[in-house]
Amino acid sequence: MRLAALAIAFGLLTACEAPREPYHRTVYTFGTLASIQLYDLPRERALEVANKIERRLSTLNKDWYAWGKGELGQLNRALANAEKVALSASLAALIQRSLELRDLSAGRFDPAIGSLVELWGFHDSGQKAPAQNPAAGDIQARAELLGIEVVQEDEQYYLQATRTGIVIDLGGIAKGAALAECARLLKAEGVRRALIDLGGDLIALSGPDQAAFRIGVKDPRDDALAGLIRAQDGEAVVSSGDYERYYEKADKRYHHIIDPETGYPTATAIAVTVISKDAILADAAATALMVAGPQHFEAVNAALGIKTAVLIAPDGEYYLTPDMRERLELKSLSDAGGEGQ
Ligand code: AMP
Ligand code: MG
Repeated sequence: MRLAALAIAFGLLTACEAPREPYHRTVYTFGTLASIQLYDLPRERALEVANKIERRLSTLNKDWYAWGKGELGQLNRALANAEKVALSASLAALIQRSLELRDLSAGRFDPAIGSLVELWGFHDSGQKAPAQNPAAGDIQARAELLGIEVVQEDEQYYLQATRTGIVIDLGGIAKGAALAECARLLKAEGVRRALIDLGGDLIALSGPDQAAFRIGVKDPRDDALAGLIRAQDGEAVVSSGDYERYYEKADKRYHHIIDPETGYPTATAIAVTVISKDAILADAAATALMVAGPQHFEAVNAALGIKTAVLIAPDGEYYLTPDMRERLELKSLSDAGGEGQ
């Protein structure tokens, strides 16, 4: 069977029987509609936990948005004129992790991509397609703005950049980090079964002895349901694709995932889905695999320690790790109703 492309479908999640109606809340956060589903909780308790999750997501979104008023936005404004800027321990930890993933992915995932993302106009979701594509010289100049590291002096963390004007963009990892944070919060609250979905990037706490959640996988080019995956307890299912944010010019699609080496949107993959219990890793890997394309699919999976991933190439060919091949149930449209198992 041939699959045109993949994305995790929003709203196609089917839970198996639960003794109580699950509590469900939809909120707008991280630039998308997010869904919070909590199972087996009395209503009062579910309300309380959902409020906590919602507040946490809103804080993280503010702190980690590169062009906002929160900590990362402030850091970037300071980096416009400085090469060394102080930052909080929590943001330092996330940037440090993203730099480790940058190195493991041989620079395909790079959190210093912000300046290029800005140049292409993908930093602002309300942005219209630019009148013309950025000039090659500008792309080259921005591609040189990639060098950063985190350093610690006494008790204080600093972001050290190789030049002024570097813009850090955690967009390729923020949802995964937020999902990991939600999972931690839910566990601390004693919630055993829950599903948090940030517009197609999700984490499933199914409970150790309960049925796995079934996640619908759709074809982003025509929205049809393409298959199903069972997400085990604690697993994040994260997708990246050229369908999330893009514009078209002269029949060519320009999208929001940029190859740090060339400075241009990637052209060797249209969609990637990664499953891992480490949500941050899954998120960074999905972005890195979009850059890697089929040619480096295996090497990047090996370098990052990813066992379960699928990549769809522009010609419709799909590339699966052996574990994904076993787990992805491809469905024909007629029998893909999404009923519980
Ligand atoms: P994702 O949907 O997780 O692949 O994240 C895409 C977002 O990550 C884009 O909107 C950019 O903000 C940012 N981004 C784009 N290209 C890269 C890259 N090569 N490395 C890291 N982040 C990137
Ligand atoms: Mg990502």
